[in-house]
Amino acid sequence: MPREMIRKDAAPRVTPRLTDYDQARSGFTWSRARGALAGLPAGGLNMAYEAVDRHAGPERADKPALKCVSRDDTVSTVTYGELARRTSRFANVLRSLGVGHGDRVFTLLGRCPELYTAVLGTLKNTSVLCPLFSAFGPDPVEQRLRLGDAKVLVTTAALYHRKVAERRTSLPGLEHVVIVGPGAGDLPGTVSFDELMSAAPDTFTIPPTSPEDMALVHFTSGTTGTPKGAIHVHEAVVAHYATAAYALDLHPEDVYWCTADPGWVTGMSYGIIAPLVHGVTVVVDEGDYEARRWYRVLGEQKVTVWYTAPTALRMLMRVTPREGPYDLPRSYDLSALRFIASVGEPLNPEAVVWGQDVLGLPVHDNWWQTETGCIMIANFAACDIRPGSMGRPLPGVEAAVLQQGEDGRALVIDGKVREVESPDADGELALRPGWPSMFRGYLHDKERYEAAFADGWYLTGDLVRRDADGWYWFVGRADDVIKSAGHLIGPFEVESALMEHAAVAEAGVIGRPDPVAGNVVKAFVSLRPGIEPSAGLERELLAFARRRLGPAVAPREIAFDENLPKTRSGKVMRRLLRARELGLPVGDLSTLEGSA
Ligand code: ATP
Ligand code: MG
Repeated sequence: MPREMIRKDAAPRVTPRLTDYDQARSGFTWSRARGALAGLPAGGLNMAYEAVDRHAGPERADKPALKCVSRDDTVSTVTYGELARRTSRFANVLRSLGVGHGDRVFTLLGRCPELYTAVLGTLKNTSVLCPLFSAFGPDPVEQRLRLGDAKVLVTTAALYHRKVAERRTSLPGLEHVVIVGPGAGDLPGTVSFDELMSAAPDTFTIPPTSPEDMALVHFTSGTTGTPKGAIHVHEAVVAHYATAAYALDLHPEDVYWCTADPGWVTGMSYGIIAPLVHGVTVVVDEGDYEARRWYRVLGEQKVTVWYTAPTALRMLMRVTPREGPYDLPRSYDLSALRFIASVGEPLNPEAVVWGQDVLGLPVHDNWWQTETGCIMIANFAACDIRPGSMGRPLPGVEAAVLQQGEDGRALVIDGKVREVESPDADGELALRPGWPSMFRGYLHDKERYEAAFADGWYLTGDLVRRDADGWYWFVGRADDVIKSAGHLIGPFEVESALMEHAAVAEAGVIGRPDPVAGNVVKAFVSLRPGIEPSAGLERELLAFARRRLGPAVAPREIAFDENLPKTRSGKVMRRLLRARELGLPVGDLSTLEGSA
């Protein structure tokens, strides 16, 4: 897909402090990045110390760490000094409950100030934090509490009542349930967060923490199947810090907002840890995931950097089409915003062009995984943007494109892999292990962990191509790629082409088995508001895609579907579209949006 590059000098509102990619990469080492952090006074490295305590000295104690916007729009501020005291109290609470080093503390909470307290207090206590999506139903909650050996659960009365209470007897290891907010005293077998907090002292000395101590367990979003608990250690904070400097261009004066759910790796690493390590002010929005509200919060809070997902951008595009009217964004003062960063699934080029045309803002794609623990490849501040490309590897990241075998995965012969020879050839994206937030294992699943490596590379399971200048282009997950009449077709390319049509809001593309071609491409399309499905529109879209993609790649069939199935982190669940289409078992649906 040939595209004009968006040069940063053509986007005058962006003032990246680093203007050159090679300059950013040259001379970078992870140990130098480590040197920018404080470390514990007695030695060792603790995420929460870097995120909170080291800012709580006299110069920054009064600076707002959190600006919490409640559902009814009241705004409350928590300073770094106050956050240090609250998190110390929570660490003392855990200690008083007999919860210590390595014990698992789960959160089942929406975005709220108590979540920040619980997460960072747990890390201070050197216990292990395991976040869950608050929208999970009882089965996925129980499954993860068991898989993660939960000792403590921090949640609300309503969530506990609906999702955990009945299962409690089958979870004997779950010793404490701490209830945030109203109704705490009323539920048997639970304790009140507020009561425990007010009884606890507000100073706490962080015990010795080795950089290799387990800090976080993230269950992957489950797009491909059953959840895996990816283990991350305290040293990951070095990667959170460095990548947030490059990819999110964070500086202490920033007002930063990340819309990712705290139950997902982005909501933790870049919703809580990384921005606080940079000493910025973090917006915590307790409101709904909703386009109109986002414009308002961005304007009212004077957000400077916004980290969100393609699904959110597509929601903005629905309410503010490129053709106008632009009243909605124009009714707020968005002048503080420097750029938008996006992560989680492919960012269609249309969304990048839309950002430039409608908001006058660059949209930076970011690629990474739960397993990598930090952003790996991005159209970051020092990069010009190629719309549709996920960008280039961050400093400290060594990536390669490996030749594939029949199954789409990297071909391993006698333990050896080979890189693709020419630019623009598809292959599996591989990363050279050694960055600090690299996952250290899947909980209770050594085999699966070991299977993720070959010949000194970590194999990501994603297919990409790299162009002659070194930009990476996402093709698809190895297991989503469609083989049709001898071609390998990435669903993303087809979805992006369909999205360029003015009637299309979103698309999900799968392969449907076909006796002649092996598979034919079928697209599920949701339409912009006010546009009705029709046979005529179907023909028009088929022809439109054929003109753009050519007959070998264009969809053969289009179905209109107003509610494409998505994971809670906003990814189209192609696996489910395919299973429904073929009448196959749908598999694990715990991360399906709206399934609770
Ligand atoms: P599971 O591994 O359980 O199936 P998952 O892969 O969806 O779940 P995550 O770790 O949350 O879980 O997602 C990482 C994946 O999301 C990547 O491997 C990639 O397929 C996709 N992804 C993330 N960011 C991007 C991006 N910028 N462009 C394209 N794909 C992306
Ligand atoms: Mg994955």
